[in-house]
Amino acid sequence: MNDIDRERERKFQEMYVRILKSPLYKTKLSEHALNSIKLSNIQTLPLTTKEDLRKAGIFGHLAVDMKEIAQYHESTGTTGEPSAAWFTQKDLLVGGRQLKECGVRLTSEDLVLIRFPYAMALPAFLMQHAAWQTGAGVVPASGRTIVTPYPRVLSLMKRLSVTVLAGLPREIELLAEAARLGGSEPSKDFPAMRAICVAGELMGDKRRKHIEKLWNVPVFNMYGSTETANIATMCEYGTMHISELDFFIEVLNEDGSSSVAYGERGFAAITTLSHQGSPLLRYFNEDIVSVESCSCDCGRTGANLVHYGRSKDRIRFGDIILDVMDIQEAVYSLSPAPDAWKVIEQEEGLHFLLDSHCSRKWSEENVRFRLSSQLQVPVSVEITTLVDRVELMSNVPSVKPVYIKKRSNDT
Ligand SMILES: [Zn+2]
Repeated sequence: MNDIDRERERKFQEMYVRILKSPLYKTKLSEHALNSIKLSNIQTLPLTTKEDLRKAGIFGHLAVDMKEIAQYHESTGTTGEPSAAWFTQKDLLVGGRQLKECGVRLTSEDLVLIRFPYAMALPAFLMQHAAWQTGAGVVPASGRTIVTPYPRVLSLMKRLSVTVLAGLPREIELLAEAARLGGSEPSKDFPAMRAICVAGELMGDKRRKHIEKLWNVPVFNMYGSTETANIATMCEYGTMHISELDFFIEVLNEDGSSSVAYGERGFAAITTLSHQGSPLLRYFNEDIVSVESCSCDCGRTGANLVHYGRSKDRIRFGDIILDVMDIQEAVYSLSPAPDAWKVIEQEEGLHFLLDSHCSRKWSEENVRFRLSSQLQVPVSVEITTLVDRVELMSNVPSVKPVYIKKRSNDT
């Protein structure tokens, strides 16, 4: 056992004692041994499903006294049922520390404009903690609010010489489009900018390269959720390093009964090793991921995580399985890449809606051929308008984008 494994085992033992203070786990684990469970036999313990959390209610997984709580967060899924999480002061500090491992390497010279929404969602606060811990300054320019429309954010970026922009990938794309509409060139007219950090939406390599080209700076991705906080951050070599002292990640088959082969796509089960407020054991979050060990050029070893999307967005045509990642990679390999896109699942194939300010460069025939040959399913294409560019330049807050509309669900 190496030092990291020993430390993980110790943290797991501590967490196992702590987690029994929550009503959910007091019941769930009542028939399991109270101690001497090792991380290596974690598979003998039950999974925690989203349904378990919903049934247990927002206090169900609270494992500390309410007086310890510093912040409450929730995200509303498509079912309308919130996913809740409780954070102590220490949880917020640890969350900030995890983001500091990101390849962006914030310093006290940086001024970070945070475009993540500040209402209820978590990333804005973790990014803010990461900035403060490195001495960087913060410009809180929340998305989804009438206080900071796109032109105002762009003006702040210019006037304040913002060096790092942090937000949802779609927001970063819309800011570039708003800059263009306002007569500037995002790749040239923000000379102080040196990096972008994104989280909260799926981002494959092709989309990352597209955003890097738009702004002419490196883009760093982060993977996590409201319930777990941030799990993995991207280094300067593009590897998504898992915070191994804070999380134990299993990759399981569809019903969660066993592990998939190492490096294969499967369903994530996340155990939080550090979280105090609302720790989770084997949380089956319905995300499709793969985990592979790596020895990265940045000097770190450990595991690289790839996120392929949520299982509810997975589309099947016979033997062909398409995750959001597969569809997104195909979309962003188009030239030009779209400013916005949406795909609708149909009985016979996929219908793509594509919007670009330079859509003249696309031929419908060619786009259809490229998408269908990459995805191996019948494709129809509609070149249309998805972004209201008048609203983008006025004071209308953006709404959560829908990229995949399945036949079976209403999103
Ligand atoms: Zn690395």
